[in-house]
Amino acid sequence: MEFNICLLPGDGIGPEIVEQAVKVLKAIGQKFGHEFVLKQALIGGEAIDKTGFPLPEETVEICKESDAVLLGAVGGPKWDNIDKDRRPERGLLGIRKELGLFANLRPAKLFSELKNASLLRPDIVDKGIDLLVVRELTGGIYFGQPKGEEVRDGKRVAFNTMIYDEDEIRRIARLAFELARKRRNLVTSVDKANVLDVSQLWREVVEEVSKEYPDVTLNHLYVDNAAMQLVRDPAQFDVVVTSNLFGDILSDEAAVITGSLGMLPSASMGEKSPALYEPIHGSAPDIAGQNKANPLATILSVAMMLDYSFNLKEEAQAIEQAVQNVLAKGYRTGDLLEQGKQLVSCSEMGDLVCKEI
Ligand code: NAD
Repeated sequence: MEFNICLLPGDGIGPEIVEQAVKVLKAIGQKFGHEFVLKQALIGGEAIDKTGFPLPEETVEICKESDAVLLGAVGGPKWDNIDKDRRPERGLLGIRKELGLFANLRPAKLFSELKNASLLRPDIVDKGIDLLVVRELTGGIYFGQPKGEEVRDGKRVAFNTMIYDEDEIRRIARLAFELARKRRNLVTSVDKANVLDVSQLWREVVEEVSKEYPDVTLNHLYVDNAAMQLVRDPAQFDVVVTSNLFGDILSDEAAVITGSLGMLPSASMGEKSPALYEPIHGSAPDIAGQNKANPLATILSVAMMLDYSFNLKEEAQAIEQAVQNVLAKGYRTGDLLEQGKQLVSCSEMGDLVCKEI
């Protein structure tokens, strides 16, 4: 089969890590007989340098014509002092908006070989961490109207509005249930329904959607309890679905408990293709251009792409297994190095994963 992928390497370590992901795609293509047609486009600081804009029109067009998009990272100190509407991050926000990506998927999985990297106690980690946070990305308090700052009774006041309509809740809930079916059939919906009206509607609509998925178990947690449970007993979670604000916080919490930023992939999805896949870390300017970066988060983002956008489950599993094997053999990039393990460069790590495939 043939699949069209748009590559957006971006800034800092972006080009190095995307290069490794491309090697892995080629290895998968060879092994399973697929053709991945790759087109590259500009985004972020590199795009600013070459065109004056963080998201050139041509990039949007190439992305929209593709079946999926793979992004490295954007940003860096070179562009920190330019006008805020032209900063590299605008490119990222812009492409998410252009593609209508309403859901952000952040798996937090701890490979057993990296147990020591986790910040949690060994007895908690031993139960395993393998969960997926599904965050609503285009609604809620970050976008709700009215918002602003004004003077009332001689005092400055500022306000935002946390608002969801039932359709917004329904589509993210459906996605969470669909994803749970590909995993362990458990959805935990996180809200603050004891206090917030918007959360009461959230809970009602999620309950309604759950009737379409009798094979998936649904439970609800208040967000304060969810934040606690994530560190007390992360093994209890499979798919966690929540609103934009709560998801922003919980997805970072879920990431940090695994302790390895360089290992965590993500996906952002809309109603139709293409979805966007990217590592959760940034452009790591401190190590850029030194062939030191860990490419595994980007390689695992490719695995998510094969699974979610192309329905190539076996191929996705082949990548995950290859990563696991390389770690089991003791190879580590600098960010994960422990005593007794062998230090490898970014490109060596890419080659090792390809060899395992
Ligand atoms: P960062 O994630 O880039 O780096 C944080 C630390 O983790 C650094 O010490 C870095 O060397 C290390 N690190 C990150 N990824 C690594 C990898 N794959 N391998 C090895 N080490 C890795 O976050 P930051 O320093 O806060 O931000 C740097 C730049 O990246 C900023 O310009 C920021 O705006 C941008 N950023 C971009 C994205 C994105 O493109 N999605 C996300 C976050 C930050």
